[in-house]
Formats: sequence, C-alpha cells, structure tokens
Amino acid sequence: MLAWCCALWTLLGCARSEASGSRSGPFNGQAALGYAKAQVDFGPRVPGTDAHRLAGDWIVARMRERADTVIEQTWTHRTAAGRDLPMRNVLARFRPDVAERILYVTHWDSRPTSDSETNDALRMQAVPGANDGASGVGLFVALGDVLKKTPPSVGVDLLFVDGEDYGNFDKNEDVLIGSRYFAEHLPAANYQILFGVLWDMIGDADLQVYQETHSLERAPEVVSRVWQTAADLGYSRWFIPESRYTVTDDHLPLLDKGLRVIDVIDLDYPAHHTTRDTIDRVSANSLKIVGDVAYALVR
Ligand SMILES: [Zn+2]
Repeated sequence: MLAWCCALWTLLGCARSEASGSRSGPFNGQAALGYAKAQVDFGPRVPGTDAHRLAGDWIVARMRERADTVIEQTWTHRTAAGRDLPMRNVLARFRPDVAERILYVTHWDSRPTSDSETNDALRMQAVPGANDGASGVGLFVALGDVLKKTPPSVGVDLLFVDGEDYGNFDKNEDVLIGSRYFAEHLPAANYQILFGVLWDMIGDADLQVYQETHSLERAPEVVSRVWQTAADLGYSRWFIPESRYTVTDDHLPLLDKGLRVIDVIDLDYPAHHTTRDTIDRVSANSLKIVGDVAYALVR
C-alpha cells in the first residue's frame, strides 16, 4: 500500500513537472540574473578596455568567495591586425583533489562590434553582451553559490574563457582565443574529464535550446546525457531534443584536444550581435531552467 501510494505520488509528481517544469532545486535564477546584470553594468567587456579588466577582477573575487581554488591564466594575444590584447581565463575549481571531473565553460568577454545591425553607426558600437557573455557568468556565479553550500559528488571546474567573440568568425581570426589557449595550457599534463559542457547564450527570456551538430557528431553521449537530464526535470519544452545549429564555438578547441565538451547554446536570439542584447532580454526563469540542468549533472 505504501509502495503503491509512493508510486502514484511519483507518477503525479512526474506528470506535473513534465507539464510545467518543477522549478525546485537549490539553484537561484534571480541571483544568476543579478550576477549577469553586475557584469553588464561594467559596460561592454571588450578586451583591452577598463570595463573588461574590472569585470574580470569581479569574476575572480566572486569565485574566490565560492570555489576551493581559483587559477588565473593571463597572456597577451596579438591580433591579425597586430594589436596586443590582454587576455585572462579564470578557472574556478571545486574539489580539485578529485580525479573524476566535469568541466563547464562559458565566455566572459563581449563583442566589440554589433555586426548584425543594419545601421552603420550602430554596427560600430560594442554589443552590451547581456545574453552573449553575461548570462553564462551569471549562471556560473550562482552555480558557485550552490556548490559552495553542497559540494558536488565529482570534481567541478568552471572555466570562464576570454576573447571568444573578439574577431572575425568567417576568417577564423581572433575568435575562441581563450578556449584555444586553455586547450594548449591545461591545468595538468594528464588533465582529463568525464565530460564537459559549454554554456553560451542561455539566458534568453524566450529559451529554446536545440542540439548542436558538432556536439552530436563528436560527443553524442554527452548530448544525450544533458537532454535526458533536462527531460527528467520536466524541461523538454526548453531543451528540445532536435538538432538545429552548427556553431563555431569554444567547444571546438577542447574537442580537438580530446576533451568531450558539447555546446549548449540558444542561437535563436534576434538581438544576437546587436546593441539590443540588453539585460531586459535575459530572464531569471531561463537561467533557473539552465541552472537546474547544470546542477543536476554534477550533484
Ligand atoms: Zn557572440
């Protein structure tokens, strides 16, 4: 009788969570939005600017409060045009002594030009980068809150990469700078992971995350794991189990290095690479959905 009651209760609970998403769990979407806003408030985080340096300092300070170890990688990147850019990756480690690890990646820089604007004057302006940059940072800092309170069952590395969005994707020039650098300067010579996820543009109020083609081809078991975890949480409406995009993104240098990292990205974002990528287009609810999935994968 007890077993039957429990089964029925579970069934009802599942049905309810599938319909609406349960939104339970310790991840705080409102806090994540606040952290994303703090990044945006520095101004565009374009490498070489004061806003970039101050926003980077803020990330390091926030993660030193939360993680067991924080490593900064700093170097100078010479662009195709011959300009020297100060670069910084931040690696925040939870349970650094544990061999079995999960790697999460997000880029923290924002793009210097709003290429997708039709108006020439607007095209010259920097992207505010609320979704494309700050949303991933907000996710990671809020995840840090949870992991500090309840250490994960495995080791977790949160990697904030710089210079993802600086240059020209068509020419493959001055883009993915931080993830390329990390791939060549791993935290240990024998650094390995169980799996990894790149979280990019995951705060859109109109959240629709489709599976990405490179990820499906090169680490299909990680794609299955992430989308199944979302389904278990009742989030299949937002994590749609269909492939849609092929994206040049920070997962590629890591995949090339043998690290099984997939891209979780909501590329259906009309404000992408425009001056309209502002904080009002990012929602606590979307960050909560993604944060619940990210936490469920490591707890
Ligand atoms: Zn971008």
